[in-house]
Amino acid sequence: MKRVSVVGAGIMGACAAWRLAERGWRVTVWDQFEPGHRRGSSHGRSRIVRKAYSDPRYTAIMRQGYPMWHDLQSRSGIELLHECGLLYFGDRSGPNLATMADGLKDLGVDHAFVEGTALKACFHGEGDLELEVSPSDIGIWQPEAGWVHAERATRAALDLATAAGAEIRRGRVEALADLDGDAVVACAGPWIARFVDLPVTVTRQSFTYIEARHRGPVWIEDSPLSLYGFPVESEDCTSIKLAAHCPGPPFEADCEEREPARGDADLAIDFARRRLGIAARVVEEGVCLYTTTPDEHFRIGRLDDRTVYASPCSGHGFKFGPWIGWALAEMVEGHAPAIPS
Ligand SMILES: Cc1cc2nc3c(=O)[nH]c(=O)nc-3n(C[C@H](O)[C@H](O)[C@H](O)COP(=O)(O)OP(=O)(O)OC[C@H]3O[C@@H](n4cnc5c(N)ncnc54)[C@H](O)[C@@H]3O)c2cc1C
Repeated sequence: MKRVSVVGAGIMGACAAWRLAERGWRVTVWDQFEPGHRRGSSHGRSRIVRKAYSDPRYTAIMRQGYPMWHDLQSRSGIELLHECGLLYFGDRSGPNLATMADGLKDLGVDHAFVEGTALKACFHGEGDLELEVSPSDIGIWQPEAGWVHAERATRAALDLATAAGAEIRRGRVEALADLDGDAVVACAGPWIARFVDLPVTVTRQSFTYIEARHRGPVWIEDSPLSLYGFPVESEDCTSIKLAAHCPGPPFEADCEEREPARGDADLAIDFARRRLGIAARVVEEGVCLYTTTPDEHFRIGRLDDRTVYASPCSGHGFKFGPWIGWALAEMVEGHAPAIPS
């Protein structure tokens, strides 16, 4: 039986381990921390999943990747995916709305243009919050979208890998050459530059929960700050998560500090005042790391005959986790992943 070592038990390493273990590889996953830790990028309860992208290449990949979430969910027997739809909205002159619409149309992805009262109705859903819109605002409603439970999804992929024979080990890998196996998969997230010479910047990103019982879609505001948010994450939940996709301050991943800081919630509070017309009460805050390339595109590649890598997912990688796991397994087996065009 061929052996593979996987570095990293975040969503990318977990999905690669799952795919490889099910293909009959003897998999060992190494992580410097316990699975579920809060020092990397895959922790927390929610991540947006969507097909709508301003770059149609990502939309094309998600057409393959979206059903893989259903697969992970049904194989694990755990509720992971909440398909509440996505509302992408903003001023009609915004940076992404027009190109996104072209991409969705070209690829035949279900979507609708909304404005005025229809835009408000899409945001409202069954919620308690109203979106304040101006006459120049438009939106793209995309029904095949929503959010996944991040920690559960990562755990589910690791559990499927373990069930297929993978071993999860705690330990810090110093060099990929030290690892056993016929193949090595490096999914080290914010630590990837230790192993692969990639132009990445690691930044500290904050997220904020404010008091609300909103049951609408996930949403993204098309603006340079790119605010985004979620509905309540469970029936009895009384808060919703908001965050900004724009890069936070540069951060050293080995630094242990991950506490919320003064000012972290400011953008969320400002959005709530500006767009929801409420004075937000902050009930929870958290910190997570982005690993971003200059063009915000992913880097998935081969380092040498034995080693492949994927990690710097520029703050939008989670939704591609099952697809990237599959692509890495293809590469380990010597195939080029069939990237849809
Ligand atoms: C606040 C926030 C919001 C986000 N929102 C979204 C979203 O809505 N939708 C979306 O698609 N994406 C989103 N993302 C991005 C997404 O979460 C990341 O792209 C994804 O989680 C990256 O996973 P990863 O496995 O590459 O990295 P990680 O989860 O960081 O995993 C890397 C693992 O490698 C381990 N490791 C590193 N070096 C070593 C070593 N030397 N030895 C052993 N182990 C090592 C680490 O301990 C870590 O566990 C968001 C990210 C953040 C921070």
